Amino acid sequence: MSATAPLPEVKTPLLEVANCRQSYHKESSADLLVLDDVNLVLQSGEIVGLLGRSGSGKSTLLRIVSGLLLPTAGDVRWRGKPVTGPADGVAMVFQSFALFPWLTVEENVELGLEALGVPKAERESRTEAAIDLIGLGGYESAYPKELSGGMRQRVGLARALVVHPDLLLMDEPFSALDVLTAETLRTDLIDLWSEGKLPVKSVLMVTHNIEEAVLMCDRILVFSSNPGRVAHELQVPFPHPRNRQDAAFRELVDDIYSVMTRRTAKPAAPAHAPTVEAGFATALHPVSTNLLAGLLEALTASPYEGHADLPALAQSLQLEADELLPMGEALQLLRFADLAEGDLHVTAHGRAFVDADTDDRKKLFGASLRTHVPLVASIRRTLDERWNHRASAVRFREELEDHMSPAYAADTLRTAVSWGRYAELYAYDEEAAEFSLEDLEVAA
Ligand code: ADP
Ligand code: MG
Repeated sequence: MSATAPLPEVKTPLLEVANCRQSYHKESSADLLVLDDVNLVLQSGEIVGLLGRSGSGKSTLLRIVSGLLLPTAGDVRWRGKPVTGPADGVAMVFQSFALFPWLTVEENVELGLEALGVPKAERESRTEAAIDLIGLGGYESAYPKELSGGMRQRVGLARALVVHPDLLLMDEPFSALDVLTAETLRTDLIDLWSEGKLPVKSVLMVTHNIEEAVLMCDRILVFSSNPGRVAHELQVPFPHPRNRQDAAFRELVDDIYSVMTRRTAKPAAPAHAPTVEAGFATALHPVSTNLLAGLLEALTASPYEGHADLPALAQSLQLEADELLPMGEALQLLRFADLAEGDLHVTAHGRAFVDADTDDRKKLFGASLRTHVPLVASIRRTLDERWNHRASAVRFREELEDHMSPAYAADTLRTAVSWGRYAELYAYDEEAAEFSLEDLEVAA
């Protein structure tokens, strides 16, 4: 090293993302802009959460950060150097555990090291250490199918940790787990982090669960949708271990709810303007009509009387925070309720639904679907026009896939099936993947 005077300390961030934009090319329509002008800087020593609704581009951004996907435009730097492919020192944990079923726990974990050319003896000792650290001791020679979901996700974590990555990326790592298992894993991970036992410098985790973000992160970036942007940044000042029941914790959760349901207000918009744009290709979240009806009933009844704070409502219905937002959005899409600033308000249409009997409920639901859900309207129109009143689902799925990923298209179609069935707008044969008007009273 040359002996010049020490420079003032300028810490190169671990990761810098600048003006990042990502669009997916579509054959039959305009390109889909998923991320627009995303900026993010990550320093050593922090856990940062990316919080946003489904489809807002969180997974896309993680893939860009990891070097798996090159952005359409923008600059991604890892330790100051441009990222041009999978970056060294970055490891990813996926939502679905992505384990090799034919390999044991030990072999699955060790796999992370083989690609790095680590000698056998060191591979073995590091694998053993990672397995012990993450609480898998004793399961070394078990196969994934012998393990519970929580244990499998521990294997996923161990495989990421064994490489001692500088940056650990996690894409909704707990969302496939049941509530208790997820919580145990979250607290185990935070304990290890607080005790300095995790062999990582920084964590970037994606979640759509507000409480999870507040429980684990030092800093939270709230993503907006369509296109995804960092709309808001919040510091979480609480020391670990955190208590979900603390007043300050609850208050922060409330604030984030309100940020996430805030309208990007256009001044001229009418009072009941939807935030959800209801084009043919609006992704529909799979929410059952039973839940929607139950939520409307709870919202209309005492103590809410038609107007509720979402976190309070989530708690009284014993729902996870992240389950309620999509339900609120669905109610808003159907004009049964209005979602704004963290509150849910019932509309006149929603009250009419609650007051109606079963048959009239179906009619009101159907009317909402035909007016506000173009996909359902289009399925029904097609059936009305055909001489045999039948239509294959494939065509609709393909049309949706022009606008969204296959997974979202499948969810959207499934939701259209279930909502349309409830409203008796059409029947659906799972085996033939076919819509029809069979057994319906086709009264216009
Ligand atoms: P999130 O992780 O926030 O749910 P994603 O990054 O998975 O969001 O997806 C953002 C949007 O990009 C969605 O509308 C999704 O349908 C679309 N999308 C994701 N991957 C692809 C792809 N490979 N091709 C086309 N569209 C995609
Ligand atoms: Mg995702």
